[in-house]
Amino acid sequence: MRIRAAVLNEPHSLHIEEVELDPPKVGEVLVNVAAAGVCHSDLLLADGELGDGRWPMVLGHEGAGIVEEIGPGVTGVAPGDPVVFSIVPACRECVECSRGRFNLCVPAGENGVRGTLLDGSSRLGRADGTRLQHGLMTACFAERTVVAAESAIPLTRGIPLWQAALLGCGVVTGFGAVRNAARVQAGESAAVVGCGGVGLQVLAAARIAGAEPLIAVDRDPIKLELARQRGATHAVESGSAATVARIRRLTGGGVDYAFEVVGRPETMRLAWDSVRPGGTAVVVGLAPKGIEVALPAIGFLSDKTIRGSYYGSGDVRTDMPELAALVLAGELDLEGVVSHVAPLEGVFDALDRLRRGQGTRTVLVLDEELAGISPERQ
Ligand SMILES: [Zn+2]
Ligand SMILES: [Zn+2]
Repeated sequence: MRIRAAVLNEPHSLHIEEVELDPPKVGEVLVNVAAAGVCHSDLLLADGELGDGRWPMVLGHEGAGIVEEIGPGVTGVAPGDPVVFSIVPACRECVECSRGRFNLCVPAGENGVRGTLLDGSSRLGRADGTRLQHGLMTACFAERTVVAAESAIPLTRGIPLWQAALLGCGVVTGFGAVRNAARVQAGESAAVVGCGGVGLQVLAAARIAGAEPLIAVDRDPIKLELARQRGATHAVESGSAATVARIRRLTGGGVDYAFEVVGRPETMRLAWDSVRPGGTAVVVGLAPKGIEVALPAIGFLSDKTIRGSYYGSGDVRTDMPELAALVLAGELDLEGVVSHVAPLEGVFDALDRLRRGQGTRTVLVLDEELAGISPERQ
């Protein structure tokens, strides 16, 4: 079928085009995309910062929609089911999956970088025969997409899909960093460096975990205000030598956990410096390929830990129902982190805002009715 999609032809060259989408093969599903969030990783891909060879590609990896058709052998979802996309369709058999590290699934990771589905091929192409890569195995800046069945996570009904779209990347990533990577306990202190789309989810998760004090750190006063509304006990403006000193003063020597949600060496350093002896810095932010970070090694003498967290460091299949339950219980607000709502054509402005560090999340609405968004919100 022919669909409209945002295609990255080469770095800095994104176009809305009509492309050809092949039907789902064994173990795949066709999804009618309702809405998709524009994430910082989309910007890195669009600017060619994640390495060569990642184009031509249909972008988009955070989204939700309705299953329209299932390929042979699919049992977990049926046509009509609302689903959220997962960018790591875990095989549940490889060396990482067998150790329970589903977010690090080897074939999912390899095909994700290659821009293909799990059988190593693409369902996307142009009329001239050019094959197109699937952005992070999802390619949801498009009216429809074909994904591995494991990438279509059933969604509890009751959450409007324009909000549910955020669950698949920003929310899973942010909550998993707190719950699965750091395992923050009530009464432990935390700082969140970078309060954009994902950072605000880290903050919400830390608040629900009972982190105290909970310090929001950002260079943008507007984002700091949003962070306060989402439960930050303190807000510290970053960008000066006084930032670390303030965090240390607020916590009597440093936080138990500092989450870096920017993807820059200077904020990784800031997170490391903000951690107390024995504490842990968790790097969630994605840095461009080739970027290195330097840390004062003396910090290791005080039992400090630094670790990464990719896609929530857990199992998206078991985490998703819990996250949906938090939304339905009113404990996790998704609407408040959406700063802009736009049609597919809004992807260009959304990427520009990310480039300038403005706004939190833009949600692209592919189908208003399916997305369940009221005209006033747009
Ligand atoms: Zn993302
Ligand atoms: Zn696996």
